[in-house]
Amino acid sequence: MCVGCRRRAAPSHLVRVVGGPGGSLLIGRGLPGRGAWICADAPGCVQKAAKRNAFAKALRVPVAPAAVLALWPSPDP
Ligand SMILES: [Zn+2]
Repeated sequence: MCVGCRRRAAPSHLVRVVGGPGGSLLIGRGLPGRGAWICADAPGCVQKAAKRNAFAKALRVPVAPAAVLALWPSPDP
């Protein structure tokens, strides 16, 4: 389930995110630890997750807000 839009999606449409050092976030299916899933192709989900602090809740670790937005670069220049 995506932590942004809370929709269920096939794993191929989602990316797995785990907490990294210093409140950072890392993307990778093989990474150890608690993971959160988010739509791979929907920047809006990242925005929603950032607003709700959804990664910190899902991962149960402190997450820097900037780390969430850094997952996907903004499409705007
Ligand atoms: Zn989503």
